Amino acid sequence: MQRRDFLGVLGVLGVGLLSSMAQADTLTSGDIWVKEEHKLLFASVLKKLNLVESIVGHANFNLISLDETLKIAKGYSKVEPFTIAELAYIEEVSYTDPRIYGFNGKKTIERISDTINKKDVIKISGTGHYVFGDYAPLLERLMKDVGESLILTSGVRSMVKQLCLHLEKIESEKGNITVASRSLVPPAYSYHSIGDFDVGKKGWGHQNFTANFARTQEFWQLQKLSYVSMRYTIGNGDGVRFEPWHIKIVS
Ligand SMILES: [Zn+2]
Repeated sequence: MQRRDFLGVLGVLGVGLLSSMAQADTLTSGDIWVKEEHKLLFASVLKKLNLVESIVGHANFNLISLDETLKIAKGYSKVEPFTIAELAYIEEVSYTDPRIYGFNGKKTIERISDTINKKDVIKISGTGHYVFGDYAPLLERLMKDVGESLILTSGVRSMVKQLCLHLEKIESEKGNITVASRSLVPPAYSYHSIGDFDVGKKGWGHQNFTANFARTQEFWQLQKLSYVSMRYTIGNGDGVRFEPWHIKIVS
């Protein structure tokens, strides 16, 4: 995606359409939902992931591998080990071809057992998030060019972190996997696992993850920089919602 396309799409569509795109999470007849027989597994897997996160902390959970997750679940009485059925469910969620949910993006992680080498990432102070060391200079440059009000809102995510976000989104969408996959893509398909990161406006909280971010000064300053572009533009071929905050790093 070139910067020209990035600007073009916004210029042509204007702010009115931006707000309608923000509500693109509407139901369609072909949507796929969590199966009745999976509901208990879904709930128990998500509960255990949340408990593991509460033990290791929000920042560490961004990088956690499946193996570490299983070990912590086994080692802390407050969690209980993952069962065979729960592991099979995690595999099913991770290896199902997401095109059935309308998601056409590239696979970014081959195996759910893949790990993130902690030597390859750098923690960005004050955020609880990490970026890959190779891309840290780019983030630094971007923050310098846009100003102090620009913050990192989400960086490197392991398969487990993405799994947790994906399941939480499905839960908030009342079991609708198709709708959830438009914003929190399935594990093994997130560019956050290989380099992309999200930025936002300091103090804006959840608003940073809405189309309203495209109305901020910070966003418009980002547009002026020739060396950054947006991963998920309006109408992107991956089938992901418009995400003006998601910086494309990996090609
Ligand atoms: Zn993102």
